[in-house]
Amino acid sequence: MRLVIVGGVAAGTKAASRARRVNPEIEITLYQAEPETSISECGLPYLLSGVVNARERLVARTPQKFSESGIEALTSHRVEEIDHQNKKLTVRDLTSGEVFEDSYDRLIITTGARAVLPPIPGAELDGVFKLRFLTDYDDIQRYIDEYSPRTATIIGGGYIGLELAENLCALGMEVSLVEGADRVALAYGLEVSERVEAELGKHGVGVYLGDLVEEFVSDGRVRGVRFGGMELETDLVIVGVGIKPCVDLAERAGVEIGGTGAIRVDRNMKTNLPEVWSAGDCVETVNLVSGEPVWVPLGDTANQMGRVAGTNAATGEDRLEFPGVLGTGIFKVFGLGVAKTGLSEEEAEAAGLKTISADVEVADRAGYYPGVAKVFLKLIADRETGRIVGAESAGQGADKLVDVCATAIWGKLSCLDLVNIDLAYSPPYGPVLSPVIQAATILSGKFERETEGVRVLK
Ligand code: FAD
Repeated sequence: MRLVIVGGVAAGTKAASRARRVNPEIEITLYQAEPETSISECGLPYLLSGVVNARERLVARTPQKFSESGIEALTSHRVEEIDHQNKKLTVRDLTSGEVFEDSYDRLIITTGARAVLPPIPGAELDGVFKLRFLTDYDDIQRYIDEYSPRTATIIGGGYIGLELAENLCALGMEVSLVEGADRVALAYGLEVSERVEAELGKHGVGVYLGDLVEEFVSDGRVRGVRFGGMELETDLVIVGVGIKPCVDLAERAGVEIGGTGAIRVDRNMKTNLPEVWSAGDCVETVNLVSGEPVWVPLGDTANQMGRVAGTNAATGEDRLEFPGVLGTGIFKVFGLGVAKTGLSEEEAEAAGLKTISADVEVADRAGYYPGVAKVFLKLIADRETGRIVGAESAGQGADKLVDVCATAIWGKLSCLDLVNIDLAYSPPYGPVLSPVIQAATILSGKFERETEGVRVLK
């Protein structure tokens, strides 16, 4: 039995390793278009600043390592066509240009996503970059080495743009961030966006909101960014305005694409084509709170999905399921941890849920303990049942607070359940009552007043 995997980063390599573990007998070949497998893309902003001090530290597993466990991993090889009727692939060796045919019995598509460069005049200029793979990092690093840019502009105020702002500042550059919407961190509520903007300001990042970039200006290489009737001088631009799932290859082969634009799979990560599975940033899944299909391209999820796809493809059985996601995510911008899980109030409203919420801004450790600062936490619950449907946090320790809330949503707990939840306490780690408990107490009071004593059943 021959299993072929297309794409070799988080989902593809996890699927390959897992397939090998559950079935030592099968032949496994993985095709990866980039020159490296197992790239830790999440580390790229930190590689740019030197916080991660060596490029090779972002390559978790090389083709040599894969071959030791009997997995053939072919880098710089792009699968160009899938003929599912005959179970054949057309593959191009990107180094030699040679095109050849391969065949499979079972196939896993993990083609991921690509960074979008919008059609802005000048987007092709030297000095305008995107950041997705190590090869993008190489291009940016070469440019920095050659021209020593003094100023940098980031286009896009999502989490990658915000991480980049911090890491370019660490290189001593004067950094600006341009966001077309009226606030940054749009996946979050207004309170979090305001805190992120304040943090950027505190560290000298110029934040420009509400205008779309019209043009990149050049004198041979990028020199400025035009938007909102002004021109901002800049020596370097990194565009982080979003990504798109890579589904063209799959779509041409007859794989069904869902409403989000990503590949549709069932809970076993099977596509509509027999013997074809898919996982990672190229697939959509279900939001477990709203029940709606969503596309949430994240590294941890890609790994989890890859495990399910690899197991099921290697055994030919529906052995594992991937249930869906809450959309839990986190990023760091300077001293601020920013995290969310479940739905924001806006997203909950769009899903037809009526919500009730409470937020606190409280000490992140005992008030007398050195280094105490404020942490913000918002808890959002379903107005009818009191069940937690979302949480957002900004500050030190946001990771812990949001992970507790994610577990609460996963376990279908209500705000009343969280009032007496037994969490860890010691002065260096938190206030005597966790911000989760403090917010849940306020929320429960509101909820009980609104439901006039109606008891909530779990
Ligand atoms: P990808 O990583 O996109 O890999 C797919 C691979 O398939 C690519 O290398 C591509 O070249 C290859 N491919 C595509 N088509 C073909 C073909 N036809 N033939 C052969 N190969 C093909 N996630 C988090 O959870 N937390 C974070 O903090 C975080 N930070 C990030 C920071 C940055 C700067 C970036 C860019 C991403 C970050 N992510 C983060 C997202 C995370 O990296 C992705 O979700 C994850 O890499 C997805 O893995 P994947 O295998 O599905 O797809």
